[in-house]
Amino acid sequence: MSIRPPTPERSLTEMSRESLRAALSAMGEPRYRADQIYTWIFARGARSLEAMTDTPKALRQRLADEGYTVGRALVEKVRESVDGTRKLQFRLSDGAAIESVLIPMPGGLFTQCLSSQVGCAMDCKFCYTGTMGLSRHLTAGEIVDQVLLAPGTLPAGARIDHVVYMGMGEPLHNFDAVLQSIVTICGDDGPGYSFKRVTVSTSGLVPQIDRLGEVAPVNLAISLNATTDEVRDRLMPVNKRYPLAELIAAVRRYPLPPRRKLTFEYVLLGGVNDGDDDARRLVKLLHRLPARVNLIPWNPFDGPAYARPTEERIRAFQRILLDRNVTVTVRVTKGLDIDAACGQLGERPDAA
Ligand code: SF4
Repeated sequence: MSIRPPTPERSLTEMSRESLRAALSAMGEPRYRADQIYTWIFARGARSLEAMTDTPKALRQRLADEGYTVGRALVEKVRESVDGTRKLQFRLSDGAAIESVLIPMPGGLFTQCLSSQVGCAMDCKFCYTGTMGLSRHLTAGEIVDQVLLAPGTLPAGARIDHVVYMGMGEPLHNFDAVLQSIVTICGDDGPGYSFKRVTVSTSGLVPQIDRLGEVAPVNLAISLNATTDEVRDRLMPVNKRYPLAELIAAVRRYPLPPRRKLTFEYVLLGGVNDGDDDARRLVKLLHRLPARVNLIPWNPFDGPAYARPTEERIRAFQRILLDRNVTVTVRVTKGLDIDAACGQLGERPDAA
């Protein structure tokens, strides 16, 4: 089975500025026309050729005749949690479904959690998406579509401030499409993000961490979850390929701009990785790194027999890190009632 996306129709959201200029130049159009269309789509949020009212009608017609559309995703469903978290389900042009989560922050701001694949190949044992396996990669346009469509689902006055590649999929397994999407959302005349408002989270694909640092030094988050190879091998098969020492060495090489921190996500599984010894080893692993640890008490789903640690255990683990001056927060679980919490994304077989 191919994990490549289906051959894209000629969706304009798949195109870089250069490829759009080249396509319009081949039609005999001046360069500024491509820039005008680019701005309509990526900065002004146009979702159809008809909306581009200052572009000549004849050109819009020609683009339509040649099969160009705007976007490959539709918002199919929006579910809102009692805590204000919103889960968006997108239907893609081949029928596949992906999800994106909007997490409320103070001041009417939201963080958007983006998907990069349909399912995921990494098979992390504590993650619902991991149980789905990988159906296919997303295209760059399908990732950008999530960013372009999400603001329209928010209440008036709210806005998205930060995007994190932490939804369905391992972003660095779909490196080229993820990179193109970052270039688009952080580029001139795009949705207006900068590298510092974008975070890519990885389970630990070491060569791709190095590549990302070379071309787009966005914020980096590592889904760590264990402090020994023995436990990490069991929880995250990727560790057999890139063990902890190699992963931490890659993180130390990552060219993080000054005053920014690396995030280490640590899903706490009762009796598996939440002991005092684990906390002490974590302190050692992160020694002299500009690290912020995000403890995530496991969010249950039908499947693996893990337990969420007790509140007391979570606080004891956190205390050991705090006492060694490690910046650490315990993630407040959001969106649990709509299966939008960390590790829970993916269409359920009985989803209404
Ligand atoms: S935690 Fe992330 S990398 Fe691991 S299976 Fe889930 S989606 Fe994939």
